[in-house]
Amino acid sequence: MSLLNSSIPITFNQLYLNGAYSASHSSESISILNPKDNTLVADGIPIADDVDVDNAVRFAEAAFNGPWSKFSATERSACFHRLINLLEEKLPEILRLDSLTTGNPVSLIPTRESNYIRNCLLYYAGWTDKQRGDYFPDDDGFVKLVRHEPIGVCVAINPYNSPVASLFIKAAPCLATGNVLIVKPSEKSPLGSLAVAALFEQAGFPPGVVQVLTGDGSTGARLASHMRVRKISFTGSVATGKKIQVAAAQSNLKRVTLELGGKSPAVIFEDANLENAVTWTINGILARTGQVCVAASRVYVQRSIASKFIDLYCARMKEAVKDIGDPQEVETKFGPLADAAAFEKVQAMIARAKNECELAVGGNRIGDQGCFLEPTVFLNPKPDAEIYKNEVFGPVSVIKTFDTEAEVIELANDTEYGLMAGVFTRDINRAMRVSSKIESGVVGVNCVSVMNIQVPFGGKKASGIGREFGEYALRAFTEPKTILINMNS
Ligand code: NAD
Repeated sequence: MSLLNSSIPITFNQLYLNGAYSASHSSESISILNPKDNTLVADGIPIADDVDVDNAVRFAEAAFNGPWSKFSATERSACFHRLINLLEEKLPEILRLDSLTTGNPVSLIPTRESNYIRNCLLYYAGWTDKQRGDYFPDDDGFVKLVRHEPIGVCVAINPYNSPVASLFIKAAPCLATGNVLIVKPSEKSPLGSLAVAALFEQAGFPPGVVQVLTGDGSTGARLASHMRVRKISFTGSVATGKKIQVAAAQSNLKRVTLELGGKSPAVIFEDANLENAVTWTINGILARTGQVCVAASRVYVQRSIASKFIDLYCARMKEAVKDIGDPQEVETKFGPLADAAAFEKVQAMIARAKNECELAVGGNRIGDQGCFLEPTVFLNPKPDAEIYKNEVFGPVSVIKTFDTEAEVIELANDTEYGLMAGVFTRDINRAMRVSSKIESGVVGVNCVSVMNIQVPFGGKKASGIGREFGEYALRAFTEPKTILINMNS
């Protein structure tokens, strides 16, 4: 079964191992439906078993210790640039393929998706030859050198919402620092990752440097507890992140970085540019139908402007229904939720929330087929309302009013999550004060739900461990080695 028009030779019934699509040892498989109408997109997608995982690790070790270790920094960078050129032509088709299973609208492809991936690869292509070590003089008789060395066989375990971008965010710093990578995409959206895998070899990366193992949580668990995997870079839910941390500790203490969920607050002060605040907070909850880790799902608005802001915000959320539709149509801005399980989970949370908050907008299914949901706004949540406390991962926000700066900082921080926040104000002193007090890995001032490849991204508290993006990602894929040279020998 081929779903691609181009020359990428792929059937989706195979794994990508050691530079070739090959049959899985496992006989278990997955089927995936298109969430717009629940029609079958692909079936027979293998669930990689122990033998498949062992094979991938063996090939990865051979690549890491063999041909890949001999590439100079310039040669590694050249591979990145060839990959960027290949993607110029092939990426749109691969992302359209992923749209069939994620429900991500194809309208995002030419701008948001492609630019994000291209910028990420260009950024890390420039880092391959700039990873300095350190030198300390022999004042005590020893010259001290510090090298940043690759970790070895790394694994990316990815979530369903943005599968190809997730792959590149992990692959780029991983490969720039000379590691090798096994990718385990989500069982809900593995097609783009499988399709993109072959491009790495075409770009000159040796076989085994990037491999793709499809499967569900069982495959992820096998990788997380494997004795010769040296690092897991995980993006997904807090619950799975904890399991991976435990599996890593109980196996070989492999290194773990965790990019987990969020319940990101957007704080709108009375002096904010209202139009700007509404635009960012609406985009922040509707992009990918709310299925982003940095979704602005808690909105705090100062009492003096609350009714004006809430009217505008709710009107925009209501209007957004007209932008929801078939994700494969180019004019559609927002698609369905990714599958029936996600849809049912969000619907159940909305139903329970009706007893704990005031429903202001939405709350209903759109149409009678597919996983389409109205943009939904709740007001005045009870302090422990589930919809206010827990990540929804859907187009659902909760608005609460506040009076003082101190009060809103306490409210914003009263959560185990700490991924992203937004502060909307024209007062630079207040922006600096509040952004320093909010407990999250990223704080936007007059913006929210936005990331930038040049600077670290990741969560405080239960939203994660470690950082991606920027130079920090290079540190997460290397370990320092100290060399002591005895000058008196
Ligand atoms: P998930 O945790 O259900 O699954 C993520 C991946 O983990 C999948 O590939 C899955 O097969 C695998 N997995 C499941 N059980 C496993 C186990 N026991 N051991 C190893 N791997 C296992 O998450 P999801 O539903 O796919 O994604 C949504 C979540 O991801 C949300 O919480 C969202 O906030 C988070 N997310 C975070 C970021 C970030 O950068 N912080 C980005 C995107 C998504």
